[in-house]
Amino acid sequence: MFFVKDSVGTSKWQNWAGNVKGEPSQTLLPRDVKQLSNLIWNSQKQHKTIRVTGAAHSFSPVAKPDDVAISLHHMRGLIEIDQETNEATFWAGTYLYEIGPILEQFGLALENMGDIQQQTIAGAISTGTHGTGVTLGSLSSQIVKWGFVDGLGNYHEHEVMTIYLELYTFHLDF
Ligand SMILES: Cc1cc2nc3c(=O)[nH]c(=O)nc-3n(C[C@H](O)[C@H](O)[C@H](O)COP(=O)(O)OP(=O)(O)OC[C@H]3O[C@@H](n4cnc5c(N)ncnc54)[C@H](O)[C@@H]3O)c2cc1C
Repeated sequence: MFFVKDSVGTSKWQNWAGNVKGEPSQTLLPRDVKQLSNLIWNSQKQHKTIRVTGAAHSFSPVAKPDDVAISLHHMRGLIEIDQETNEATFWAGTYLYEIGPILEQFGLALENMGDIQQQTIAGAISTGTHGTGVTLGSLSSQIVKWGFVDGLGNYHEHEVMTIYLELYTFHLDF
C-alpha cells in the first residue's frame, strides 16, 4: 500500500512489491478538485510531468512518479448515494476496503472484488482490476459515471453510454 506518510518530505517512492522504485521531486496531496486543478496547472506551467499514484499495488512501473507525484489520499470517501438507482459516488482516492462498510449501511455492496482490497478506486479502474467469476465483469464495468481533471487542470464529467448495435445476417444464394 502507498503510505503517504512514508513518501512526503522524502524523495523515496516504491511500489507495494518493492520491484519499482522512484524519486519524485515533490509529492502533492490535494484535498479537493480545485486544489488538484491548481496543482496540475502550476506543474504544467513549469513543464513538470505528473504521475498520480493510487495504492502503488501495480507490479509494473505504471504508477512510478518520475517527477511530481500526486496522491488522492485525502480525496476519499462517499460523495453521494442514490438509493433509487443504487448508484454511489466516491472520491477516486478511496481505498476499496473503505467502500464495503459504507455501502453496507445502505444495504448495498460491490458485485465483485479482486484478491485484495488495498487498491484505490482510480488505480483499480485504470488497470482493469478484476475479481472472479465468468459472469461478472471487471471493477471498471461497474462504473456508470466518472469525473477527471485533464492535463491543463480542467474538470470533466462523463457518463457511460449504451450503444445498441443491430446485427444483420444475410443469406446469400449463388
Ligand atoms: C497482492 C496483490 C493482489 C492483487 N490482486 C489482484 C486481483 O485479484 N485482480 C486484479 O485484477 N489485480 C490484482 N492486483 C493488481 C492491482 O489490483 C492493480 O495493480 C491496481 O492497479 C492497483 O491499484 P492501485 O490503487 O494500487 O493503483 P496504482 O498501482 O497506484 O496505479 C495504477 C495506475 O493507475 C493510475 N492512477 C492511480 N490513481 C489515479 C488517479 N487518481 N487518477 C489517474 N490515474 C491514477 C496510476 O498512474 C497507474 O497508471 C493485485 C496486486 C497486488 C499487489
